[in-house]
Amino acid sequence: MVRYYHLELLACPECRNPRLLVYSLKESIKEFDDSVASKLKCRKWCYLYDRPASTVPLDTCRKTCMFREIDEGVIVCPSCGRWYPIVNSIPVLMDDKYRDVERDREFAERVKDKLPSWIKQYMLHPLSLHEDK
Ligand SMILES: [Zn+2]
Ligand SMILES: [Zn+2]
Repeated sequence: MVRYYHLELLACPECRNPRLLVYSLKESIKEFDDSVASKLKCRKWCYLYDRPASTVPLDTCRKTCMFREIDEGVIVCPSCGRWYPIVNSIPVLMDDKYRDVERDREFAERVKDKLPSWIKQYMLHPLSLHEDK
């Protein structure tokens, strides 16, 4: 189940860009054992504050990124222009060839009114699925 500090471990399945953008639509706070949380932290990039992890106080990440689970959201890859859904707290990062276009369109349709326009730009081109860069 994806929490903020997990996001830096992801990369775009198509172009391998590791710096994705995330917009969260629904979140929940999940408890963590403090002994576990104290060992974890965003390492390179803090997605919650959207800046380098080195500029976010350790304690801040530990009180927020570790606990906030994204239930529903959108991930976009600024490098190739693709987008991916987060559904039931699982980032569905699929290669174009395995992607369920129909399901992704339904998702886009369902959430589009809740998204800021910069994200919608990415989703307009369905999914920029079959275009080559
Ligand atoms: Zn963080
Ligand atoms: Zn990409």
